[in-house]
Amino acid sequence: MNTFGDRCKVSFVRGERQYLYDTQGKKYTDFLGGIAVNIFGYGDEGLKKTINTIVERGILHTSNYFYNEPQTYAAELLCRATNMSKVFFCNSGAEANEGAIKLARKYFYNQGKPNTKIIAMKNSFHGRTLATLAATGQEKFHTPYLPLMEQFVYVDYNDISQVEAQIEGACAVIFEPIQGEGGVIAADRKYLSELRALAKKHGVVLIADEVQTGMGRTGEFLASMYSGIIPDIVTLAKGLGGGVAVGAVLANEKVGSAFSPGDHGSTFGGNYLACSAAAYVTERILTTDILENVRTLEKYFLHKLTNLISGRAEIPRGRGFMLALPLDETADAHEVAGRLLKSGFVVGTAGGNCLRFLPPYIIEKKDIDALCEAIDDVLEQR
Ligand SMILES: *Cc1c(COP(=O)(O)O)cnc(C)c1O
Repeated sequence: MNTFGDRCKVSFVRGERQYLYDTQGKKYTDFLGGIAVNIFGYGDEGLKKTINTIVERGILHTSNYFYNEPQTYAAELLCRATNMSKVFFCNSGAEANEGAIKLARKYFYNQGKPNTKIIAMKNSFHGRTLATLAATGQEKFHTPYLPLMEQFVYVDYNDISQVEAQIEGACAVIFEPIQGEGGVIAADRKYLSELRALAKKHGVVLIADEVQTGMGRTGEFLASMYSGIIPDIVTLAKGLGGGVAVGAVLANEKVGSAFSPGDHGSTFGGNYLACSAAAYVTERILTTDILENVRTLEKYFLHKLTNLISGRAEIPRGRGFMLALPLDETADAHEVAGRLLKSGFVVGTAGGNCLRFLPPYIIEKKDIDALCEAIDDVLEQR
């Protein structure tokens, strides 16, 4: 079905570290990572070995009627990495948020309270299922699918007074620590700590959608950690499997205990293949200094992007390897991204006419230099 419109006229057939090769053998440097998915790049030896081991054993899947070791191991590692106590495995970001919304509702149902309202942010993105579309605070996504689930109210991002005005009767607040699809817009540290305090005071569940920002993308395991806050529920997907489809809903003991047998489920969720990948990725982030490269090169990358501006773009935004360069109105981000692709660089775009960069954590200075030179050329040509 034509849900993705005119795709780029390129098909990749091989990958090695941060580089991709198309059907013609042309080489590309990857600054998109399959939309924040391929965090270790391509052909990572450890991930290959992990997946191969599972394949060799002959069991990719058995169902959740049975225990399986990779699932337990992935759950343990993820709880350690996020300060959470309970995990539910699913297969995508939307499904993780869908589970989070159900969990918050169930938590209040168990208490005999009627709270069903969920506070979401304007300009957010939470997925494409009907409930997560409703959580997404962008009208353009809603229009063809009305009526949507009605319990959502939308507040301006970074404005705590609007949350305060809505919190009575709410069961949850859902937010992205950095709005990704909306244009790489970060929450203020103060806003997040006030949000945490407000939700706690009213007994409302705080859901951090870290589907894009999680798994080290910003240089910390979770972006929430920059503000020193611990949400009640955290959702993960994108980078979680390093390229294997897997999502997770994590929660603290109190909220995570609200689900009872039969309340939620997934056939594929938590299978051997997905969880062995998730465990490998999580362990690698926890036990190596791979995020050091993200933290170090962030500053360099931002500096290089800032040097490019000179009246053609605005100040670059974002954190870690989740960065954006907002172009001025004389350039169209999609067109610029297309030209960069021709020059051998894979980049993304985001709301607000931005070029968006979500590279694998292993990119090097020389890649950033080459990219910035290419952007300079493309902007100069216009
Ligand atoms: C990508 C994304 C989603 C949806 O994830 P899917 O795996 O595409 O369902 C949800 N929330 C955020 C913040 C995302 O970036």
